[in-house]
Amino acid sequence: MFSWLRKEGGNGAPQVFRTVAEGLSSLYKEVLLPLEEEYFFHEFNSPRLDDSDFFAKPMILLIGQYSTGKTSFIRYLLENDFPGMRIGPEPTTDRFIAVMYGDRDAVIPGNALIVDPKRQFRALSKFGNAFLNRFQCSVSPNSVIENITIIDTPGILSGEKQRKDRGYDFVGVLEWFAERADRIVLLFDAHKLDISDEFRKCIEALRGQDDKIRIVLNKSDMVDHQQLMRVYGALMWSLGKVIRTPETARVYIGSFWDKPLKYDINRRLFEAEEQDLFAEIQSLPKNAALRKLNDLIKRARHALVHAYIISTLRRDMPSMFGKENKKMQLINNLHEVYREIERTYHISPGDFPPMGRMKEVLKDQDFSKFHALKPKMIEKVENMLANDMTNLMQMLPAEEAQSAPEKVVRGGAFAGTEQGPFAAGQGEGADYGAGELQEWVVEEHKTKYDKLFFELGPIDGKVSGATAKKQMVQSKLPNTVLGRIWKLSDVDRDGMLDQDEFALAQHLMQVKLDGHELPANLPPHLIPPSKRGFSS
Ligand code: MG
Ligand code: CA
Repeated sequence: MFSWLRKEGGNGAPQVFRTVAEGLSSLYKEVLLPLEEEYFFHEFNSPRLDDSDFFAKPMILLIGQYSTGKTSFIRYLLENDFPGMRIGPEPTTDRFIAVMYGDRDAVIPGNALIVDPKRQFRALSKFGNAFLNRFQCSVSPNSVIENITIIDTPGILSGEKQRKDRGYDFVGVLEWFAERADRIVLLFDAHKLDISDEFRKCIEALRGQDDKIRIVLNKSDMVDHQQLMRVYGALMWSLGKVIRTPETARVYIGSFWDKPLKYDINRRLFEAEEQDLFAEIQSLPKNAALRKLNDLIKRARHALVHAYIISTLRRDMPSMFGKENKKMQLINNLHEVYREIERTYHISPGDFPPMGRMKEVLKDQDFSKFHALKPKMIEKVENMLANDMTNLMQMLPAEEAQSAPEKVVRGGAFAGTEQGPFAAGQGEGADYGAGELQEWVVEEHKTKYDKLFFELGPIDGKVSGATAKKQMVQSKLPNTVLGRIWKLSDVDRDGMLDQDEFALAQHLMQVKLDGHELPANLPPHLIPPSKRGFSS
């Protein structure tokens, strides 16, 4: 196994880290945490990191105004409801929901989550009861979430109302999750693209996490292609005002729910976009170590700047009289402190904490408790950034290569695109071999289905995936759904549909168009008699 031996400066035995996460967690506790504590970093910025922060599964955070399809998006990926899920035209999700893997369906309330040392949510207790009553974990035995966690959030409303009603620091909670997330997905509704001030504030709070942001322009099938172009342009223009580099933020255009497309003129675009987004999600477990490493570097740089600020304030405080006056004066002239530190330590302005918030927190602090600068402590952290991080980075390729196939995100919507004619990159020209025609006991609509089947010009009693695809997309059902129907219908797994299998596919499409769920596996009454004995 690839590992790295770290020699701690003379005191004690060398440490062996088998994984990047192990190394990060140990460096954090030993080197960075003491600095954070010395200068009250947790009270000003983010709470201390727990082991669970380093070892938790990659996390996707969904953010959007209400009714942009956040909950439906999760449901679409899972191809299943999750416990406690609510979807509707009214703003229905009024809470933060961590959708995680578990042996059986269950809902764990926020108050229980924050005392569970195995979960990474303990630090959320600082947001108080009003928040904890609006926080839950939905666990479900769904393979999609075996290797990732998805966070559903309350839809962001516009207007004064929500700020009073929520009774907790909504933006603060978002920030907490954003800092720990591997991906932040901002959802927009192509049909109703208005960006409220509240939503803008939330996006602004994600500053510094820009590299994690991905954008989904959802419900894109609700508009025709001309309108879609306009909406896309308008979205980029609006984002330009809130995200520092909107041109680098990837936008995925699509319709992420399992209903028929309203306008399917952009179907091919949606397919390609979905494949890209799925690939991105599937790569998260593999890239998780790099993300954690990046975030710890970011955090260390912030903690260093913070230490400089606090120790400078301490230096400028009088030892005896006029403390209160001096404190107010220092707060009012905080920009001068920033400038001095910028010059002395060659720090880029982007690494400083937002001045407004810094002033707010400083007001409630007792400056006489602040500590002077401890060069040894600073040096240790700088050393960690210069050497230890580089060493850990060198472990990444080996670790990524080892990141086994079982770590991949699979199942749910990801399964429908893995094989068959609805898989990514499958052209319409594929041809398959021959088979034999078998008969099936005629069902209610079998005659109609058979007529369709023969219109497709079956060869040796079968239609190829490509031929069936042409016919099936007319239903306007999305590809992940059709992909699943295909997998269920091709009972003998020969990549073609015979007459019976085709009838079954048609039946399943009707089931879906009527708004019903597809079976996970074929129940006996759906298996064509000619196919009984095959395992499906
Ligand atoms: Mg919702
Ligand atoms: Ca078949």
